[in-house]
Amino acid sequence: MAQRPHNFNAGPAILPLEVLEEAREAIVDTHGTGLSILEWSHRSPEYGQVHEEAVTTLRELLGPSAEGHEILFLQGGASLQFAQVPLNLAAAGRPGEYVVTGVWAEKALAEARRLGRGRELWNGGGGGFSTLPAVEEIRATEDCAYVHLTSNNTIFGTQWRDFPRNLSAPLVADMSSDMLSRPLDLSAFRLIYAGAQKNLGPAGLAVVLIEKEVLDRCATDLPNILSYRAHAGARGLYHTPPTFAVYLMGLVFRWMLDQGGLVEMGRRSETRASLLYEVIDASDFYSGTAAPSVRSRMNVTFRLPSEELERLFLEESAAEGFVGLKGHRLVGGLRASIYNAMPEASVRALADFMRAFEARHG
Ligand SMILES: *Cc1c(COP(=O)(O)O)cnc(C)c1O
Repeated sequence: MAQRPHNFNAGPAILPLEVLEEAREAIVDTHGTGLSILEWSHRSPEYGQVHEEAVTTLRELLGPSAEGHEILFLQGGASLQFAQVPLNLAAAGRPGEYVVTGVWAEKALAEARRLGRGRELWNGGGGGFSTLPAVEEIRATEDCAYVHLTSNNTIFGTQWRDFPRNLSAPLVADMSSDMLSRPLDLSAFRLIYAGAQKNLGPAGLAVVLIEKEVLDRCATDLPNILSYRAHAGARGLYHTPPTFAVYLMGLVFRWMLDQGGLVEMGRRSETRASLLYEVIDASDFYSGTAAPSVRSRMNVTFRLPSEELERLFLEESAAEGFVGLKGHRLVGGLRASIYNAMPEASVRALADFMRAFEARHG
């Protein structure tokens, strides 16, 4: 096998090597059945067990605060949730209110607006999305169905540290890029969704955690495929789920648990991020694009003194085995995405490369 590069891709992103190796074995003969999970019926007891295990492992990771939430694995990634949330939770005259802290929040709001059910509550675009509002600033308007925020802004490199509490409306969060990267108190949220391909597993899947009381109040007049109630009622088997993706995500959940769970994930993510921010903070050569108090532990965004140097950085780092460091085109510069599966050694290697690059070109 070729040497694995240091994979800093923003998503789809790095997965634990142990998980990939286990899946490699399973792809021809899963659990000694003589068949691949790719060939199993989704109605078979074998798949039922795989699905159930993914759900219970996720519950174990989340702990008791998730007891009141239904867990759904849905297709369509996070972008389908941009539409599914307002369809299920909002109504004409009762819109969702959106805290717009980056591109993904803008897209979520745009979908709600397309349905006539979205309103902006806060917008950080004037400041280049480098900051977040203080939690006390977030107040729901009386007629709103929910407040929606994005816990980690994958493109702009900002991340909420704590969340609004005691809102008069349900809090909904897109956690696509930091789900399960730290302990999570579900009691603050009525609904959480996350596309899997950043921190949880393969692309095409979204994890949805929806409080059972909210589920009972969801719209009843939707096509089944868009209805949380239909999916929950069929225990995740309303239609054929992406069986292999669920299997792989279940392995990732198991891996996280074996590594020490969310407390350990949080500790590692803090260590990884500080290794890079230390280099950025100690230097006049690198500059972080996010306000320090809200900068992300998942996506470290930074710039160099010129675009010429940024191109050179990408070129030289690629030659040393680093991939995925190009910033999103809207922000420019560089971005190191350091999700759960990222080994500390790769981050140390990047920090060393950054110091050496500065010494050569600074
Ligand atoms: C990547 C991302 C999305 C989009 O996910 P898809 O699965 O491609 O729809 C949405 N929100 C956030 C915060 C993301 O990082």
